[in-house]
Amino acid sequence: MKIETIAVHAGNMNNDSSGAVVQPLVTSTTFKRAEDGGYASGYIYSRSSNPNRTALENVLTKLEGGADATAFSSGNAAGMAVFQSLKPGSHVIAPDDMYHGLRNQLRNLFADILTFDFIDVNDLAILDDYINPHTALIWLETPSNPLLKVTDIKNVADIAKKRKIKVVVDNTFATPICQQPLSLGADLVMHSTTKYLGGHSDVMGGALICKEKDEWWQKIRQVQEYGGAIPSPHDCYMLVRSIKTLPYRMRGHVSNALLLAQYLEAQPQVERVLYPGLYSHPQYDIAKHQMLSFGGMLSFCVKGDADDAKKVINALKLFTQATSLGGVESLIEHRYSVEGPDSKTPKNLLRVSVGLENIEDLIEDISLAINTL
Ligand SMILES: *Cc1c(COP(=O)(O)O)cnc(C)c1O
Repeated sequence: MKIETIAVHAGNMNNDSSGAVVQPLVTSTTFKRAEDGGYASGYIYSRSSNPNRTALENVLTKLEGGADATAFSSGNAAGMAVFQSLKPGSHVIAPDDMYHGLRNQLRNLFADILTFDFIDVNDLAILDDYINPHTALIWLETPSNPLLKVTDIKNVADIAKKRKIKVVVDNTFATPICQQPLSLGADLVMHSTTKYLGGHSDVMGGALICKEKDEWWQKIRQVQEYGGAIPSPHDCYMLVRSIKTLPYRMRGHVSNALLLAQYLEAQPQVERVLYPGLYSHPQYDIAKHQMLSFGGMLSFCVKGDADDAKKVINALKLFTQATSLGGVESLIEHRYSVEGPDSKTPKNLLRVSVGLENIEDLIEDISLAINTL
């Protein structure tokens, strides 16, 4: 089946007698035993599993071409499950521009349990240098947040496989519509489903999708069940509902983002635009090769300093100044202010989550705002 068909159908696993066409919402925390004391339905207690979560995990598995999926209450909870699944003393290699929330998680919660290095994972010589006998995991995030750096997943996976190191890809920016990391050699895909998969800025969630149901995966399943950072049935229901339109929403995000990136690149008030679909992007060739389409996120640097960047934000009417991404409405954010003083993000950079408004309205709004510079 093609991805649009999977998106519409794989979240419906309903087999009740009502004839409901969509997966009904099951809020019951507990499920009835049969006369022999067994659980004929397969459901026992909602922390272990729930019909709406199973439906969500099924559609996520199929979208990423994986073997299984686990859903969590946030993207960070999904990341946490990965780190908790590692043996104490394991070494983790992660990008130097890793999503700051997960970088802070490693630094603040895992400093006594794991060792880690944040490096430029695009430089394979550096990557090779940092691998040691305890290295258990290489974490990738491509395109990255907010610099939109693109990492060649296959190259990294080839190096990792030789050393029996697992590769995880945070696929939040790309979504399975724009990039399929498992087919490029990754072992695990991570999502903040809060973003494009939810798509309407009204659900928090996270997910992991595996290529193989191996021993490591069983441990991750245990972290989900015993750790208990699970999404509610209602959140799962909302996500399944949103995912049905994901392929079509992504087409709109991608086409608007490319047009906005091209427009911005031609403006004298703009120093540079970071978007994997532009020829000027330093890893355009890798992106073209490994992505199915270039995604809906872009960043641009205005000519000037942080104050000039903020001036542009304040002159915008249609773009909302807010964090997060992937919703139908366009959002803009001064990332340096969010990430704090140890951030590598340029102070004149603005990150844009390009929404599904008409592109002519978006361009008109941004052109008025940059003309105030
Ligand atoms: C938002 C985000 C996360 C964290 O997800 P939450 O749902 O906020 O916990 C992780 N990685 C990336 C790339 C993100 O954008």
